[in-house]
Amino acid sequence: MNSPLVAQTSDSLTDPFGRTVTSLRISITNRCNYDCIYCHHEGDTDSKGEIPVETISNIVHAASGMGVDKVKFSGGEPFMRKDFEDILSSLPKLRDVSATTNGTFLKGRAQDLKDAGLDRVNISLDSLDPQMYRFITNSNSNALNIVLDGIHNAVDAGLTPVKLNMVLLKGINDNEIYEMLDFTRTYNGQVILQLIELMDFNDVSRYQIDVNSVEKDLRSHADEIRVRTMHRRKKYIIDGAEVELVRPVDNSEFCANCNRLRVTADGKLKGCLLVNDDLIDVSSTPPEDMPGMLKLAVSRRVPYCRN
Ligand code: SAM
Repeated sequence: MNSPLVAQTSDSLTDPFGRTVTSLRISITNRCNYDCIYCHHEGDTDSKGEIPVETISNIVHAASGMGVDKVKFSGGEPFMRKDFEDILSSLPKLRDVSATTNGTFLKGRAQDLKDAGLDRVNISLDSLDPQMYRFITNSNSNALNIVLDGIHNAVDAGLTPVKLNMVLLKGINDNEIYEMLDFTRTYNGQVILQLIELMDFNDVSRYQIDVNSVEKDLRSHADEIRVRTMHRRKKYIIDGAEVELVRPVDNSEFCANCNRLRVTADGKLKGCLLVNDDLIDVSSTPPEDMPGMLKLAVSRRVPYCRN
């Protein structure tokens, strides 16, 4: 590790670079019903088995006593876990509990998820064109309709604001940004568009687009621009619709403002999507030792991209 900038205090989850961890991103399975062409699998393809409810509960309880107030579940497809509602019920009170999902399993389950404590969802939706959607996700011909129903169900159940995650893919969906914004407008502010810069996993660099030009275009259309603390992400308000741009690639500002610690599907603490040599196995750590393990994991966090 190079030149730590800030000493860690004994009672915080602040890393040696002065970044305080306030959120957890927990992968709860590597199973998925889709096979998206670009998927980064949350930087975790090696996990065998699935983290039990009790371990998730232990990690989150310890973290919430150390300043973490936000948890996002991911995967794989998190709703492939039949015990997801049990996971939710086992959590302490938090400011924000969300999941990122492909939306396939929301129909008929959204209300139960809300009742069990899920606040909101991000739903991956890269295209409104059924053929493109199928190509990107390697799903079947009715998949897009099922997901569109899932978005309705999520909004009806109050899992809002629903964020639509659209990974920008050159020559595939980069002509659909404004159509997607029109789609979100039909939900009167309950659905927000999140445009995500493609990270080159699975040899997909040919689909990477010039995000500066997207940003310039959004700026020229925006009535208002806001900046979030998380990763310094920019939000553009365009004709009443909200669109956020997530730029993780080669972005030192993104990393400098990262406040998240990850958990792999088999119960290891992980400092960064792109780093794999800092993992700490907490799958059999007793609750009383969990705070120490969290501190250790945070002390190993290094910004992947730095000036
Ligand atoms: N199956 C769930 C879903 O579709 O949201 C959760 C897993 S998926 C890995 C989580 C998020 O990562 C999705 O929003 C997806 O778009 C994003 N993602 C996956 N691979 C990516 C890549 N190479 N670049 C940017 N975002 C990516």
